[in-house]
Amino acid sequence: MIAKEIQIAAYLFAGILFILSLGGLSSQEGAKRGVFYGIIGMIIAVLATLLGQDVHGHVYIITAVAIASVIGVLLARKVEMTSMPQLVAILHSFVGLAAVLVGFGSYLDPKTHLLASTEHTIHLVEVFIGVFIGAVTFTGSIIAWGKLEGKVRSKPLLYPGRHLVNGILLLASIVLGVMFTMAPGIEGMMYLYIMTAFACFIGVMLVMAIGGADMPVVVSMLNSYSGWAASAAGFMLGNNLLIITGALVGSSGAILSIIMCEAMNRSFISVILGGFGEVASSGPATAMVGEVTAMNHEEVSDLLKEAKSVVIVPGYGMAVAKAQYPIYDMVQTLRKAGKKVRFAIHPVAGRLPGHMNVLLAEANVPYDIVLEMDEINEDLPATDVVMVIGANDVVNPGAQDDPSSPIYGMPVIEAWKAEKVIVMKRSMSVGYAGVENPLFYKSNTDMLYGDAKDSVEKILGFLKA
Ligand code: NDP
Repeated sequence: MIAKEIQIAAYLFAGILFILSLGGLSSQEGAKRGVFYGIIGMIIAVLATLLGQDVHGHVYIITAVAIASVIGVLLARKVEMTSMPQLVAILHSFVGLAAVLVGFGSYLDPKTHLLASTEHTIHLVEVFIGVFIGAVTFTGSIIAWGKLEGKVRSKPLLYPGRHLVNGILLLASIVLGVMFTMAPGIEGMMYLYIMTAFACFIGVMLVMAIGGADMPVVVSMLNSYSGWAASAAGFMLGNNLLIITGALVGSSGAILSIIMCEAMNRSFISVILGGFGEVASSGPATAMVGEVTAMNHEEVSDLLKEAKSVVIVPGYGMAVAKAQYPIYDMVQTLRKAGKKVRFAIHPVAGRLPGHMNVLLAEANVPYDIVLEMDEINEDLPATDVVMVIGANDVVNPGAQDDPSSPIYGMPVIEAWKAEKVIVMKRSMSVGYAGVENPLFYKSNTDMLYGDAKDSVEKILGFLKA
């Protein structure tokens, strides 16, 4: 057991480490340091809580932590990098569920009913709001998991009057909240149950209404919700560190969502309210004009030998194929031959914010040749060859010139402005947003079919020969 003062000091220290961790994570150079601070902060936080004076039943807690840790380690070792978004989504759902359970537990705790009347009302409000946010996060995250895993259709479910239904349920929840705070003893349980059911429904509907292309925002938004849910649990338990940590996660998730909305030219309010103000795209998709032509590996390597400047646009397919390592070998070979080679990264390429940056860093690609979309777009008209490797939606010209496209308005990497474009993927199939890509039909584009890793290795073989 540790004294209360030591626990408070430990919480403060852990809180500072979490802030330093977030600071570190904001740049590639500082990311490892950031993760390290986060791990140390979390160890201190867990130990300080476990050793706290009012904690009992250590045997149960340690057994549960041990079992959960084994499951966590096994899952994390097994999960592929391409499945990380799903893992993150399902973990958010656990935070939501935890907030709901803490809310119910806290309401049933006889000690809380001994609080003085104002304090008791405040506690009930905390419970109600915590359970509401937790339940929305819980079901919303499960649907997000389903959409990312391909188990739930990624097309938005937009039924007429859905905002009215959500609005009525929200209003009804507020009324239930008032009744809940006025109910004596634990008679408010029924109101809590009904509100939880409403909140679960709202969570499902909010995420179901969001289309595939907006999923990056949903993932970071649910991250934010999970932070607020944790913060609410902190209020219910009177745990300052949980309040601070939840607020850090909640606000950083909200900032990330806003940044991603800006990157995708989407209205933040519209996305968080489940596509509010958006209409389902109707009518037939615009027909593709032009002919699809293809090259083989040797032809692509000849093209690269002739080129002076090359830009590589990686996407989700690079992650699937784990092609980052041979790609970097190819880049080194080209750079040794005096060519200017750079990477162009779209903010939502892959399935996680920063997904491509992580993979390229893993392969030791130097940061100075990895450029953001805004930095590289203006150089593309003067680029000889753009290699699109496993990317699709992020290079779709329809986002600029086809108002019927679900991704219309999203800024994209303007690959087609280069002299020559090589698109490396296995087939003509669509990307995550489910939209045809007119880039494949342009006269300066050639397809190179096949697995990205295999193709890059073959090109590298010809380059070195
Ligand atoms: P896309 O999902 O648009 O396209 C990826 C392409 O990779 C597919 O068309 C597929 O074509 C190809 N591919 C798959 N496996 C391989 C392989 N082994 N070798 C070569 N190619 C392969 O990816 P983008 O990165 O362009 O765009 C990301 C999309 O994901 C956007 O719509 C974004 O909104 C969404 N999203 C992003 C998130 C984020 O946070 N970044 C989160 C959730 C969604 P084929 O089958 O023919 O090979």
